[in-house]
Amino acid sequence: MSVENVAPVTETREFQTEVKQMLNIVIHSLYTEREIFLRELISNAADALEQFRHQNLLVEKVFDDHLSLEIRINPDQEKNTLTITDTGIGMNRGEMENNLGTIAHSGSRTFWSNLAENQRQDISLIGQFGVGFYASFMVAARVRVQSRSYRPEDHGHEWVSDGIGTYTITPCPGIHRGTRIILELKEDAKEFATEERIKQIIRRYSSFVPFPIKVAEETVNTVQAIWTRNKNEIKEEEYQEFYKYIANAFDQPLAHLHFSADAPMALKALIFLPRENIERLGFGRLDPGVNLYCQRVLIEQHSKSILPEWLRFVKGVIDSEDLPLNISRQALQDSALVAKINRVISKRLLKFFAQLAKDDPTTYEKFWNTFGMFLKEGAISDFNYRKELAELLRFESSKTEPGKLTSLADYVAGMAPGQKDIYYIGGPNREAVETGPYIEAFRKRELEVLYTLDPMDDFALSHIGEFAEHKLLSADRGDLALGDLGKTAEHQEVTKDEEKKAAKGEKTAVSLTPEETSSLLSWLKEVLGAKIKEVKESKRLTTSPAIVVNPDGFLTSSMERVMRASGQNTPDFGGKNLEINLDHVLIGGLNHLRRNDDELARKVAEQIYDNAMIQAGLMTEPRTMVGRNYEILTRLVGGQSPDA
Ligand code: ADP
Ligand code: MG
Repeated sequence: MSVENVAPVTETREFQTEVKQMLNIVIHSLYTEREIFLRELISNAADALEQFRHQNLLVEKVFDDHLSLEIRINPDQEKNTLTITDTGIGMNRGEMENNLGTIAHSGSRTFWSNLAENQRQDISLIGQFGVGFYASFMVAARVRVQSRSYRPEDHGHEWVSDGIGTYTITPCPGIHRGTRIILELKEDAKEFATEERIKQIIRRYSSFVPFPIKVAEETVNTVQAIWTRNKNEIKEEEYQEFYKYIANAFDQPLAHLHFSADAPMALKALIFLPRENIERLGFGRLDPGVNLYCQRVLIEQHSKSILPEWLRFVKGVIDSEDLPLNISRQALQDSALVAKINRVISKRLLKFFAQLAKDDPTTYEKFWNTFGMFLKEGAISDFNYRKELAELLRFESSKTEPGKLTSLADYVAGMAPGQKDIYYIGGPNREAVETGPYIEAFRKRELEVLYTLDPMDDFALSHIGEFAEHKLLSADRGDLALGDLGKTAEHQEVTKDEEKKAAKGEKTAVSLTPEETSSLLSWLKEVLGAKIKEVKESKRLTTSPAIVVNPDGFLTSSMERVMRASGQNTPDFGGKNLEINLDHVLIGGLNHLRRNDDELARKVAEQIYDNAMIQAGLMTEPRTMVGRNYEILTRLVGGQSPDA
């Protein structure tokens, strides 16, 4: 029985909703750079050829194995068509439905759904989000795709659509392996049926395609793999063009690393840092951006095994001659050699980042602001590179100007005499940190504190643990002991007196006796009950009356806030401590009040606790707090609370 002997039944199918919406915009777009459709189609053809080249090494039998691997492009002015033919992997019926009727990548789909109407008009985004094929409807009134898969048992089919709502699929016997795309050009797109225009577009966008692209028997591209060439012979523009090709990007890369090694293994890599981080812009999780080659044969596109996950933002190629050409994807994951390449390149990239920071701080800062989230993720999730990653972290601090950044190394260089630990304070922004209570102890001693304004910072620092043998400590730890660090003792006495005056306002201070103090502390503990682990006298506060701290010292309040917000159960480390400032006029007054008006005093105590929690960024239940606050205010203006 002939495998091609299939009845020509045409089936009509609907596009997925997101595809319909997208096509509607693509078809009606007034986008001036319509020519990019060709780049998209050539890039798909090249992908299909790369995949075929690899499959051909893996499976015993392929269909049409005599065909040479190439892309042919035929503009036809008479018919006003443009045909792109490849001898790649091809598609069977099911693959056509999936690949040309839906947006397969869930990230792309989410991204599309989240794009605002006006952003959707920006067609230049389309290629980047993995929906490139649909760009052909910018220039074609009707698109026909004929495809025959490389699997001997499959059949050829033709897919046809005008991009409005539906497409058809019909059996198409007798065709060769690969895919032929016939664009029936729109009236206003006649230019794309001329040879010169097509060659010009290929030279502009597709010079680096590693297969011959032929227009009327002339090969238009250069084919040679850029990463195998000598660095000194490659022009900056060539790198930029290659980046655009490999990353499907429209902009220039921020920087690139091109290197080759012979030991411990033969390796060539060309890796780019992009300018934009679309994961941060809401695209969802990025696919890895580096392709793995062996002797210029693509083994795995967007390879998951060749770099750690947190390096998924870099784009480029890694080529190793030592890999067996016929290695399967499964074997890649388990390969010791791949793991070794992974380590070598990761280390090299980290060195490259560090070098960039040293040689070109402005570019590094851009890089950090855009991709810092991935370095933090690495510090949290990957034990192997914590030391190197710690060097790369940047923070604002009490000694930097707003918006300016410092590093852990610079922090250490500027530590006070005798200072052993590195301190950081979390908060939603600089103002919140600087007006909050946690900074008081540091300000008094003129000790530098890093501001961890992104909650990920706290996670990263607590995972890193220490830097150059200095512990990394959060300022909201219960066991923070600053002692007489920082300014001289003499100087401190003076400031302390001034601060005492400030805290007490106009009232004269009556210091509490040790007995009174311990009675006040246990009264507060009794009032606050299980909400708090212990109530203690604070050694760190100067102007604030109270502060909550974490006795265990591991989980910072910022981390707790993130975990709460993401719905995780925060691990119970036994609660927080409340520290109170005995020199503060409010605490003195409270001690007095509790003897005369226990009920009001309790409300004040609870309010102090809530205020301290808010300053830690942890308030959860505002209703009780606001109600109580009104009762206190009512008393203040001389009224009786309604239920009293
Ligand atoms: P992407 O290339 O990012 O996956 P496209 O919209 O450009 O998105 O293509 C969608 C899918 O259609 C491809 O992933 C591929 O599976 C399939 N495809 C497109 N063109 C070809 C082709 N010439 N040969 C084989 N498959 C193709
Ligand atoms: Mg594509």
